[in-house]
Amino acid sequence: SPLLSLNNISKTFENGTTAIDRFDLDVRAGEFLSILGPSGCGKSTILRLISGLEEPSSGEIVRSGQGEVGFVFQEPTLLPWANTFENVYWPLKVKGVSKRDAKDRVEEALGMVGLCNFATHMPSELSGGMKMRVSIARALVTKPKLLLMDEPFAALDEITRNKLNDDLLELKSTHDWTILFVTHSVYESVFLSSRIVVMAAGPGRITHDMTLDASYPRS
Ligand code: ADP
Ligand code: ADP
Repeated sequence: SPLLSLNNISKTFENGTTAIDRFDLDVRAGEFLSILGPSGCGKSTILRLISGLEEPSSGEIVRSGQGEVGFVFQEPTLLPWANTFENVYWPLKVKGVSKRDAKDRVEEALGMVGLCNFATHMPSELSGGMKMRVSIARALVTKPKLLLMDEPFAALDEITRNKLNDDLLELKSTHDWTILFVTHSVYESVFLSSRIVVMAAGPGRITHDMTLDASYPRS
């Protein structure tokens, strides 16, 4: 059974804008699923509904089993007064985990994104790509079953973006995550995904649902 099912989901905002109209999607465990589509087609709304940041107007979202959901936004929303370690510790702190108990997990997450040596740096001392790595580490520290990424690299230069794409593929290949990745970059979706759902302009309409050959060499 799928890890996540969106069944006949619609979302109309208070101002009358319908962002998603009778949308169906099943996400299977272990997939790297990209949602590819033009601005305004409802991609971010889909992630916000899955994460619970928004409520659907109708339809149901079914998640099999419990487990954390991690969310990486387009802008790295770091706490500016807190250093790298404290930013990654934050979701554990909110759950009541002491700093002493969290230390190993925070360091493991920082290791995954290559920032072990930057634990005491402040956000203002980090480059754009490094801030995005901190955001990813912060999403990974709770060991989410499902990682939602909303155009996470869109604001970065092409070289940094390509590097982070490589690193994300490497991380995915060594960990058992399910990733739902929103992008308007055809290149990024083809490079990263095991499955691509293409949406048309207009509210939440899927035009293609493609599973890529799992044996395709990716490195
Ligand atoms: P995408 O991520 O594909 O660019 P969004 O999900 O952000 O698309 O937006 C889909 C549509 O819903 C757009 O027309 C957008 O203007 C509208 N929308 C998104 N959020 C809100 C909101 N909070 N209130 C009103 N309209 C919204
Ligand atoms: P941006 O991602 O904002 O374009 P860069 O990635 O070019 O910025 O990095 C800007 C500065 O951040 C670099 O000149 C360097 O001092 C520092 N920096 C970035 N990544 C590292 C790293 N892995 N190790 C040490 N310093 C780094």
